[in-house]
Amino acid sequence: MVKVLVAAPVHEKAVEVLKNAGFEVVYREYPDEDRLVELVRDVDAIIVRSKPKVTRRVIKSAPRLKVIARAGVGLDNIDLDAAKERGIKVVNSPGASSRSVAELAFGLLFAVARKIAFADRKMREGIWAKKQAMGVELEGKTIGVVGFGRIGYQVAKIANAFGMKVLLYDPYPKEERAKEVGGSFASLEDLLRESDVVTLHVPLVEATYHMINEERLKLMKPTAILINAARGAVVDTKALVKALQEGWIAGAGLDVYEEEPLPKDHPLTKLDNVVLTPHIGASTVEAQMRAGVQVAEQIVEILKG
Ligand code: NAD
Repeated sequence: MVKVLVAAPVHEKAVEVLKNAGFEVVYREYPDEDRLVELVRDVDAIIVRSKPKVTRRVIKSAPRLKVIARAGVGLDNIDLDAAKERGIKVVNSPGASSRSVAELAFGLLFAVARKIAFADRKMREGIWAKKQAMGVELEGKTIGVVGFGRIGYQVAKIANAFGMKVLLYDPYPKEERAKEVGGSFASLEDLLRESDVVTLHVPLVEATYHMINEERLKLMKPTAILINAARGAVVDTKALVKALQEGWIAGAGLDVYEEEPLPKDHPLTKLDNVVLTPHIGASTVEAQMRAGVQVAEQIVEILKG
């Protein structure tokens, strides 16, 4: 019988897909390496999330292993070379969380534009901060979407529905997709100069490391809001803190950081014009379900030939 080890919490629908295929499913949450080495001896597939680590040693102990599935995107906890040498397929679920990340980006944007988190903090202190919580509307404003991939597309779609003008920047412009969301492509510099909101949706690669630096922050409007739900190091954090302290831009909403978890008492936590969340872009019931089901279906497809 085909046996699948589920080594991280996944949605019950994913387990259902495997069981419906007639597979035996064993669930052990985040086993350590020694335990995992024991568990994989007779399994055909394994499902992980960002944990546990599937090391070369684990792969070596699994003679029957044919598929390693990551319910999610990043594959940094899997030894891809060791898997490749053995001809083991590695699958993941890109796109499963795109809508969730896009909706969080908008949540952050609303929280900054209407000073929701600030007002909430004041309410808890017993302060009725009506005057200080004056905000701005989004309708009619320009949003600059940097990186027009899966998440950028969803963000642009939502922005379009809110009556925002959509500017896009991507080295590989997809004109047809842009038309669908009423967006038009611009150079990064023009986008930064013209946007009331700049939202980042690029992968972290050499070309995007500190892409938003001091020089580029200075191109932005003093009334602009920056949203980063991509990767922390796409923004030069020191420059951003300066920009927020000195009013080069009006505010920022951040889900990701150069150092995670964000250190306690980090300068960002001292600023009232910033809203911070702990890397929860993909943390929704729907995203987790989609991720689990997508990898389970791929396992079935591969193991059933
Ligand atoms: P994607 O691959 O679908 O899209 C990325 C886009 O960026 C592509 O269109 C690509 O052409 C473009 N791009 C590449 N280099 C660029 C550059 N130098 N300048 C501008 N654009 C560039 O990826 P995605 O699924 O949309 O994910 C985007 C980002 O979101 C990634 O960094 C990912 O790690 C991050 N993410 C965050 C969370 C979270 O929890 N906050 C969850 C999932 C993904």
